[in-house]
Amino acid sequence: DIRVRYAPSPTGHLHIGNARTAIFNWLFARHYNGQFIIRIEDTDAARNIADGEKSQLDNLAWLGLDWDESPEKPGEYGPYRQSERNEQGIYQEFIDELLAKGLAYKSYKTSEQLAQERAAQQAAKQAPHYVYEYKGLSDEAREAKYAEFESQGLKPVIRFRVPEDKIYAWDDIVKGHIEIGGKEIGGDWVIQKADGMPTYNFAVVVDDHLMAISHVLRGDDHVSNTPKQMMIFEALGWDIPKFGHMALIINGETGKKLSKRDENVLQFVEQYKELGYQPQAMVNFIGLLGWSPKGEDEIFSLEEFKQMFDETRLSKANAKFDQKKLEWINNQWMRRDLNHVMPQLIQELVDAGFVSEAEAQEKNDWLTEVIKVAGVEGISYTREIVELVRQPFFALGELTEEMLDYLTSDDGRKVFSAWEKAYTALPETATADDYMNTIRAIQNDLEIKGRNLWNPIRIATTHEVQGPNLPEMLVVLDKATVLQTMADVKT
Ligand code: GLU
Repeated sequence: DIRVRYAPSPTGHLHIGNARTAIFNWLFARHYNGQFIIRIEDTDAARNIADGEKSQLDNLAWLGLDWDESPEKPGEYGPYRQSERNEQGIYQEFIDELLAKGLAYKSYKTSEQLAQERAAQQAAKQAPHYVYEYKGLSDEAREAKYAEFESQGLKPVIRFRVPEDKIYAWDDIVKGHIEIGGKEIGGDWVIQKADGMPTYNFAVVVDDHLMAISHVLRGDDHVSNTPKQMMIFEALGWDIPKFGHMALIINGETGKKLSKRDENVLQFVEQYKELGYQPQAMVNFIGLLGWSPKGEDEIFSLEEFKQMFDETRLSKANAKFDQKKLEWINNQWMRRDLNHVMPQLIQELVDAGFVSEAEAQEKNDWLTEVIKVAGVEGISYTREIVELVRQPFFALGELTEEMLDYLTSDDGRKVFSAWEKAYTALPETATADDYMNTIRAIQNDLEIKGRNLWNPIRIATTHEVQGPNLPEMLVVLDKATVLQTMADVKT
């Protein structure tokens, strides 16, 4: 049975990299009719943030993911938070087992001692390596040492005795065959901290085993943890799950690992949500980070990804985070179903202060027209609509020298007065074709065309030199307002 998990640490909000891990575990589970569970890795209490867990799960749900088990939806393998598992003594039981078997030991070295050790190794140009302090001692002699340290008031950490002669090898679902020697681990490592909390590499093994996890699909940054985890599985006599480490996500601009310090790239799902990105577009974009389908298509829904999912198409090559591509994908999704996005677009206008909530209701149809005429088809995310509609629909810009020149030129004066007369005479129900025909008639009458014809009209009605299709805009613009604008221009 396939059982996979997404195991967030609630130390922050949902990062794009974490979202990718979650999405691919979900796809893996759902494609093979397996189970997808959420486990909260909250043992690093100092780094947890208040709403970290909730915010991450809310964002996963927003992306359209669901899960079979989680802290709020416990199944048979609970509890689903490591802090609660620790309180129940789940980790302690296996720490004790390893201690009893002599596979782990209590270590009382102080941080000063450890720093000295490291400095000495550095001076001798050796790789940092933990130095075992009980070498050659019998079990009794070691226990006597423990008692001596305890009497000095020292608190131990528990270290795992690394089998240095072993080679840890696995066939990675993504990367293929990997081998890491026991010697490369850096020596005996801590499995339980002095405060009694298990470390990540230990807790994750106990949990993956007890929760019957069959496959572990996670980020490339965990490759070096895998041998540590394998040695714990082996020491406790448990089957090792299959591992897959997904390609690094790199900043498309710099070519370097995407880092939280890359200020030009928004990296949290929430930030995109706030700008009005569609969840389908986020999933679409993230689903192509380190995975590609056959063929050239690039627009896919979560459901389509699920149908097509094939773990052999996970890529070994770094995945490029290209924000322009995300913008393009979001534009595609918005255009696919503009009516669906319309309430969100109108809400942007409320948030921008252009209309009140009540007006947004009352003038829904008109706002919809404004948004369409202003060029919604070209925007990347809903927030962008604000600047697009601001002028001339909710505010007029200043008339610049250039604009005044157009209006006061000989041609400009003629066009303006002909246009003012014709516009005033047209009924409020005039269509874009009516406006077009009226402007064409002025062109024929005055024998003025091109910019000298269009600019004075556009400037007089909108205070702009450029903009969306003018006849279509005129249909949407409020007639009384336009008449007033033209009267103001004259004075
Ligand atoms: N809590 C770990 C993280 O946030 C999970 C890693 C894993 O999947 O084993 O990176």
